[in-house]
Amino acid sequence: MKDTVFLAELPWPEAAKRIAAGAPVFLPLGATEQHGRHMAMNVDVVIPTAIAEKVAGQVGGLVAPPIAYGNRSQPRTGGGPAFSGTINITAHTFSLLVKDVICDLYRQKVRRIVVLNGHYENIGPAIEGIELALDALGRDRVGDLTILRIDHWELVRPETLAKVFPDGYPGIELEHASVIETSMMLALRPDLVDLGKALHDGPAQFRPYDRYPRPAEEVPPSGVLSLTEGSSAEKGRWLLADCETRIAEIVKSEFF
Ligand code: ZN
Ligand code: MN
Repeated sequence: MKDTVFLAELPWPEAAKRIAAGAPVFLPLGATEQHGRHMAMNVDVVIPTAIAEKVAGQVGGLVAPPIAYGNRSQPRTGGGPAFSGTINITAHTFSLLVKDVICDLYRQKVRRIVVLNGHYENIGPAIEGIELALDALGRDRVGDLTILRIDHWELVRPETLAKVFPDGYPGIELEHASVIETSMMLALRPDLVDLGKALHDGPAQFRPYDRYPRPAEEVPPSGVLSLTEGSSAEKGRWLLADCETRIAEIVKSEFF
């Protein structure tokens, strides 16, 4: 049996030992969502799980099984429901999943939790899940609990963004399946990327509002919202290094 930071790959006595030693537990939040014609649909799971694995290895942490279904994909941030393969769950269900996992980790005496998100639409429901867990546990009774909620893209330094986007950063909403995610995947899982299949039909020009139930038609046919041009494994390594370094620093300063 190999040594691992993945909680579900450990026998329970080993998990118990590490939790008793104060291991921070990382909970990656992802989605099963189209990421263009050039990438697999598990991008939002692979990236935060890989970052969590790296940081957990440095801080004696554990990585809980990721939540692989995301809150409803939206046209302006993930392409929306028009693509085969995207499996949406509701914000309500997503929040309750986050809440239940946190409550059960707490019951097992985990007191340091890092919720590491890889899917834009999970932001609100993840916050709600944490709040619901605090309501359920009793805010006045969990003084020893600390939960950190991180969107990995927020930890990329401005200097790195300037290097990755010499012509200007389009903003994270439009980065769906674009240079940041494609570069990170080229660095982490090149077997799940085929740049030769990219359509290069971006960037999307969205109206500044949403329309239901017939979404705006501006989602590019590929499902990529910005550009894949300029993606590289080297850029992916810069981006991942920023996330890993800064999350390790944050975890050390918050928990140790
Ligand atoms: Zn994504
Ligand atoms: Mn996403």
